[in-house]
Amino acid sequence: MKSDIDICRDTRLTPIEHIAEQAGIQQQELTPQGTLKAKVKPAILKRLAEKAEGKLVVVTAITPTPLGEGKTVTTIGLAQGLAKINRSVMACIRQPSMGPVFGVKGGAAGGGYSQVAPMEKLNLHLTGDIHAVTAAHNLAAAALDARLYHESRLGYDEFTAKTGLPALRIDINNICWKRVMDHNDRALRMITIGQNEPGKTINGLERHDGFDITAASELMAILALADNLHDMRQRIGHIVVAYDLDGKPVTTEDLKVAGAMAVTMCEAIEPTLMQTLEGVPTLIHAGPFANIAHGNSSIIADKIALKLSDFVVTEGGFGSDMGFEKACNIKAQQANRGPDCAVVVATLRGLKANSGLYDLRPGQALPAAIFDEDNAALIAGFDNLKWHINNAAHYGVPVVVAINRFPQDTDAELELLQTMINNAAFTTHVDVAISEAFGKGGEGAIALAECVVKACQHQANFTPLYQLSQPLEEKIMTVAEAGYGASHVELSPLAQQQLAQFKAQGYDDLAICMAKTPLSISTDPSIKGAPTGFTVPIRELKLCAGAGFIYALCGNVMTMPGLPEKPAFMSLDIDESGNIIGLS
Ligand code: ADP
Ligand code: MG
Repeated sequence: MKSDIDICRDTRLTPIEHIAEQAGIQQQELTPQGTLKAKVKPAILKRLAEKAEGKLVVVTAITPTPLGEGKTVTTIGLAQGLAKINRSVMACIRQPSMGPVFGVKGGAAGGGYSQVAPMEKLNLHLTGDIHAVTAAHNLAAAALDARLYHESRLGYDEFTAKTGLPALRIDINNICWKRVMDHNDRALRMITIGQNEPGKTINGLERHDGFDITAASELMAILALADNLHDMRQRIGHIVVAYDLDGKPVTTEDLKVAGAMAVTMCEAIEPTLMQTLEGVPTLIHAGPFANIAHGNSSIIADKIALKLSDFVVTEGGFGSDMGFEKACNIKAQQANRGPDCAVVVATLRGLKANSGLYDLRPGQALPAAIFDEDNAALIAGFDNLKWHINNAAHYGVPVVVAINRFPQDTDAELELLQTMINNAAFTTHVDVAISEAFGKGGEGAIALAECVVKACQHQANFTPLYQLSQPLEEKIMTVAEAGYGASHVELSPLAQQQLAQFKAQGYDDLAICMAKTPLSISTDPSIKGAPTGFTVPIRELKLCAGAGFIYALCGNVMTMPGLPEKPAFMSLDIDESGNIIGLS
């Protein structure tokens, strides 16, 4: 089979104006950027206010291997499959970060014959939204250090006398806003800034700082959760960047930088329209992490797509304990709109990896045997799929399992898995189809599309796990117990103290975003399958008042990835005609 980029290059794409017209987007609602991508103005929602909404299909997965089990491929493939059976459909996905593109994972445009095109545009820069988030984030960081410096240089009273501004009295030891960039660069995780040389220009106050990847910025989560420009502006103003000497929160509004940050992001709030290889209109918008943030594309893009088409297919990062939980408890509660159907992607290799029969070492390649026929491992790993089906069913939505077929998969194993699903008892409508979307495009996802149409005829009875009005600790317990099947939550002394502090500061009604490993349903990446009776240890809580959640760190979560020995960028190049080579 041809490489992803060659498939993409050999496909004749439709001018974006035609894609927009076919989707029902009017010319004045579109800002084309070249011929194959265009910004869509959220004002379109006003024109379509009275129009009925389509069905929202959220693609999730079993507990994944580090390779990914094919949610994006299935999202794009299913959208193409629905188009093949003459349904009006759009897909909504996140904008890939360049960190993984140049690092380990490669692109995130889907793959094979189920891709968003042109994949090199999607994977690199696109319309610059990630850069706008980076710039807005770092503007707040610069504002903070400048204020710290000037207040310290002049003294608080003179600062106020000179500027007419209140002194913020920022506690240099209690700053919670780092810098960001969209690369994997482990050397920047911990740095010292404001270093001075005797006798030279003053560079500010020396302090420890660090970089996160832009996808981990609270601004990225805000972009994904904001309802409109006004809401985005308000949320930006609620971001807490530091605490003052009395322990009171200091916000971007206090720094008077929130307005300029919103200005920097004013075009980022417009989703980007692209197309799949088969011409299905696709909105790309925002790219929040799926651990310390909620890992779903934007509410604005979903809302636009739901007004324009009968089916909207979108994806939540990692397994159903992660991105889907957050799609239901964070995104759906903020959007006031739950999913109508969950598609759980399963792969033979992923289930075998969950069997407990293989020795999987973190950071090392999967053992080759996992790709071969092994019924015992498949049967042992099935518990993980059952867990994820039941978990999605918990939220009151019908479930369709998409078995994402890889070239090495045998018919006998695929049949065995289908039989196991059909013979198991579930509390909700569960259907299963094999998806060959990677190798065959929409044609390979017709059976899946038919299952999804059928599932959407069942009335979803969407119920989140908790109400925002519940106390923070109750929400944490609920996600751990009802969301993961844990028996206990253990809050560290620091987390307990932070909990009391956030309650006292009036943040009790925020959502909870669990930051844990995606490689297990528990918080221990080495525990595979469907564990029970485990404890969820919570080390630390972090406030994202603008995004509307508090994230709970369960173990170590990397917010600035590193590059491996042989990063993906090594195969990337460009020829003299400008063709990009080696992007996957
Ligand atoms: P996820 O969104 O779940 O992380 P992706 O859809 O990005 O997963 O797929 C992960 C990787 O596996 C991508 O490189 C993709 O092209 C590849 N892939 C997915 N499904 C298949 C398949 N059926 N056959 C071959 N490669 C696949
Ligand atoms: Mg994906």
